[in-house]
Amino acid sequence: MKTIFEPFRIKMTEPIRITTKGERIKKLEEAHQNVFLIDAEFCTIDLLTDSGTGAMSSRQWAALMMGDESYAGSKSWKKFEATIKDITGAKHVFPTHQGRAAESLLALTQVKEGDVIPNNSHFDTTRANMQFAGALPLDLLTDEGLDPENEAPFKGNMDIDKLKNCIAEYKERIPFCMITVTNNTGGGQPVSMANIKAVKKVLDEHGIPLVMDACRFAENSYFIHEREEGYQDKELIDIAREMFSYVDAATMSLKKDGLANIGGFFICNDDEWAEPFKNALILREGFPTYGGLAGRDLEVISVGLMEALEYDYQVYRHATVEYLLKKLVEKGIPVMRPGGGHAVFLDAKRFMDHIDPLQYPGIALVNALYEEGGIRGVELGSVMFGQIDDEGKEQASPLELVRLAFPRRVYTQSHFDYMIEVIEEVWNKRKTFPGYTIVKQPKLLRHFSCHFEKIK
Ligand SMILES: *Cc1c(COP(=O)(O)O)cnc(C)c1O
Repeated sequence: MKTIFEPFRIKMTEPIRITTKGERIKKLEEAHQNVFLIDAEFCTIDLLTDSGTGAMSSRQWAALMMGDESYAGSKSWKKFEATIKDITGAKHVFPTHQGRAAESLLALTQVKEGDVIPNNSHFDTTRANMQFAGALPLDLLTDEGLDPENEAPFKGNMDIDKLKNCIAEYKERIPFCMITVTNNTGGGQPVSMANIKAVKKVLDEHGIPLVMDACRFAENSYFIHEREEGYQDKELIDIAREMFSYVDAATMSLKKDGLANIGGFFICNDDEWAEPFKNALILREGFPTYGGLAGRDLEVISVGLMEALEYDYQVYRHATVEYLLKKLVEKGIPVMRPGGGHAVFLDAKRFMDHIDPLQYPGIALVNALYEEGGIRGVELGSVMFGQIDDEGKEQASPLELVRLAFPRRVYTQSHFDYMIEVIEEVWNKRKTFPGYTIVKQPKLLRHFSCHFEKIK
C-alpha cells in the first residue's frame, strides 16, 4: 500500500479551540501584532516550535509512573545512563534540565576568553553560550547549505576547506569543534556520515576534539538511511551509533529527539572533561544522577530516545514534512527546498514580494496565517536577524523565511490539509496584506516581545 499513516492510535485527546476570524483579529491587536504575545489557547494549530511540544506514547506514560525519585543513584538514572550509553557508546553521561544547560556547562568548563569554536551552524543558544564565555563562534556551512533553492541531499554539511582554513588561522585558540545534526539554523538540513568522518579526520590531525550538538540525531540517522550510499540495510540505531563513534563529546536537548517535554544531556569520553563538568553540574543543576530532572523524566526520556529511532516513526515524521511541501510546491507557493527534518520554511520574500524587507514580509505572512486560520508560525528574517549598521540604519536579513515547525506525533493528516487550505487562501489574497513597522522594541532578542503596527 502507498498510504503512509500515523503509526499510532490516539488514546487521549486535547481539545483545540476553534476561533473566528473576528476573534483572531482582536487577539492580534491585543498582542500588538506579535504572535509570541498571543496565548497558546487561541492558536488553533501551533507551529511555533518542535521543542518540548511532542506527544508522549502510552509506553512513556507508563514509564513515568516508574520514576524513582531517590536523590542519588536511582533506578531511573540507571536506565537513563544505560540507554544513552547503548546509543552513543560514551564513557560519561550527565543529565541536564535542557540542551542549553549542557552547552553552558561545557562553555564554563572548556572555553576561555579569546577561544574560537567552529560549527556547521551554531544554534542561537549555543552561539550565545560560547559568546558569553568570551569565545568567537564561527559557522562553516557549505555554500550549497546557504542556497534556499539548491536540492542537495546534505545541506547541513560542514565545508571541509573552510574548516582547514579556520584551523590554519586559529589552531591554538580552538578547544573543540562542534557539528550540529540536523542543522536547525539552516532549516533542519542533515549532515552526512561521510562529512562527520571527514571533519573528524581533519580535527584528529591537529588533536582537536569534536563535540556533536545531537538534538535531532534520530532524524539525521533517518536522512542518512534514505540518502547516503551504503546505509539502506542498516538499523537507525546502528547509524546513530556510528555517528556518535566519531565524536568525543555531545550536548543534546531531549525536547527534540528525546520525545520528552523537558531534558538534556552532556556525554564525553575524556575523564579530564568529565571531572570539571560533574563539579559544575552539582553546583548549577543537581547531583550527577539526576542533573536537574525528576526520576520520572529520566524514565520518559529512556523510552523516548528508543522510540525516536523506530524506522516507522521516522518514515511517518518525514512524510508529514514532504506532504505539506509537495502540496505547496504544486500550488506554486514559494518554499525552501528540499524539506528539512522538523519544519517547512515558507519563503516570505517571494510570497509577499509587494512588501519591502524593512517592512517585514515575514511578519506580514506570520500574521496573515494567524488571521486567516489561527496558525502560529515564526519569522526568521529581518526582525529576528536584522542588524543596525554603523550609521544606525537598519539592515535587512538576506533571507526572509517563515518557519512552520512540527511538534512530534501531535497533528494528523487532516490538520495538515487544513494548514494547506489556509496557506493557499493567504497566497491567493497575498497582495491585500500590508507590511509592518516596529513601534516598541527591546535591545536584544527583539522578536520575542516587540510591538508592531500595520502600515496603512
Ligand atoms: C533546541 C536546541 C538547543 C537548545 O536546547 P534547549 O533544550 O532548548 O535548551 C541547542 N541546539 C539545537 C540545535 C537545538 O535545536
